[in-house]
Amino acid sequence: MSLEIIENGNPFGAHRVLEPAGVLPQPAQKVNNDLSRIWDNELLIDVQFLNIDSASFTQIKGEVGADDEAIKARILEIVGERGKMHNPVTGSGGMLIGTVAAVGEKLKEKCPLKVGDRIVSLVSLSLTPLCIEEILEVKKDTDQVKVKAKAVLFENSLYAKLPEDMPETLALAVLDVCGAPAQTARLVKQGETCVIIGAGGKSGILCAWEAKRRAGVTGRVIGVEYSDAGVESLSSLGICDDVIKLDATDALSCYEAISQLTDGKLADVIINCVNIQNTELGSIMMCKDKGVVYFFSMATSFTKAALGAEGIGKDVDMIIGNGYTAGHAEVALNVVRQSEDIRKMYEKLYV
Ligand code: NAP
Repeated sequence: MSLEIIENGNPFGAHRVLEPAGVLPQPAQKVNNDLSRIWDNELLIDVQFLNIDSASFTQIKGEVGADDEAIKARILEIVGERGKMHNPVTGSGGMLIGTVAAVGEKLKEKCPLKVGDRIVSLVSLSLTPLCIEEILEVKKDTDQVKVKAKAVLFENSLYAKLPEDMPETLALAVLDVCGAPAQTARLVKQGETCVIIGAGGKSGILCAWEAKRRAGVTGRVIGVEYSDAGVESLSSLGICDDVIKLDATDALSCYEAISQLTDGKLADVIINCVNIQNTELGSIMMCKDKGVVYFFSMATSFTKAALGAEGIGKDVDMIIGNGYTAGHAEVALNVVRQSEDIRKMYEKLYV
């Protein structure tokens, strides 16, 4: 079947928005996922893997249970309703691995990709038109879903060619959270104390490694983990100066523990990498006045963070975890290139 091509697509993908009119694809309620035709400034992708964002996958498991068929059905339902994998509760998406199936005529000059190239998207699935033919497998331990599907990327969408020096599912896992270590590199300065919450998770480990590099020997990186297993595996990597077990939803315990560890000084930078709700105040209370709290977690509530900080009279800068930071893909991939221990751990988990 030949592919129909339409002219004059919007660079940000606004031409795919069905409702409400006038918004861009990410906040849209529904996008057009008819991929039998593409606009001349789109890339058509044959998709093999989705990496569902951790907050979204955790929410779906909580809603429908851990049964594979129920998870598949919920994913299909969301994509059916919205034309994209845009979790209506968390608002988040994830990313995909696929093969370039067509390059729109208008993109051919400026886009280095050609048909057959393997890529990973670096824009969220929450804005990417997606049409799933079949879900072949749900990998519950890694939030990855093997699919037979098609998607399109827009003229301004970010992507990376899959690196040749690591397995694809490892690259997908690392690139899913690549904004976090790159932001950590920017925020943590030599000699500072940095707390990473959820430091044993996928983004947390990358952040902890990067934070230690930046804080140096005079600085201190404190990793917070929730489970005994998480504490043990994070400790085994030796990338944090301290690893402590805390429930980040218990704000007072978080405050007391970090206060005790730092002789009441608290931390300069807090990096929140959890996948659950209600950790805003715990994060804020661990931070010293004029410090920085970086919320990478998609389960963060702006309202809870803003009003929570006000409620306890805390003067901290709070940063929303932008998924994009210049050079983010390379920073994250370099962590697994440079740390053999992290690479081994990630290969066990994600390959
Ligand atoms: P992950 O691998 O699932 O890690 C989550 C971590 O949070 C785990 O170490 C987990 O510990 C810990 N945790 C869970 N409950 C906790 C609690 N009550 N107290 C302390 N720690 C707790 O997740 P990820 O893939 O790194 O993603 C982290 C967050 O980033 C998610 O919210 C995800 O949606 C978000 N994200 C944001 C962007 C962005 O652009 N801003 C992009 C991608 C992902 P246990 O394993 O011990 O339970």
